[in-house]
Amino acid sequence: MKSIDEMDMKSKLKYSIEKQENDLRCERCGNLYDYVRFSNGSEVRIGCDCEMIELAKNSTSRYKDKIKCGKINSIFNHSMLNDDLKNATFDNYIPPNENLTRSKQII
Ligand SMILES: [Zn+2]
Repeated sequence: MKSIDEMDMKSKLKYSIEKQENDLRCERCGNLYDYVRFSNGSEVRIGCDCEMIELAKNSTSRYKDKIKCGKINSIFNHSMLNDDLKNATFDNYIPPNENLTRSKQII
């Protein structure tokens, strides 16, 4: 992998480099990387895959949640519930007698 020096990037950067260390070993992913901190405070680790791994994990987690939600919706859509029950809440429930009216108030 080319370092930031080899790529002649310094003249094209918007912010100046405050600190740079090359060929560091990441303790998490094990890759060699170049560390660069810019004058605006942002940092990059060129060659470290940790950020990509984290993004992939988050993406996978969101995908699994989406699949789970789809399965729940599918089960709900194929259930025997009629549309009135699907929209039932405590707020729109109209008790048919005095006992259930008191029960609703208590709840
Ligand atoms: Zn890493």
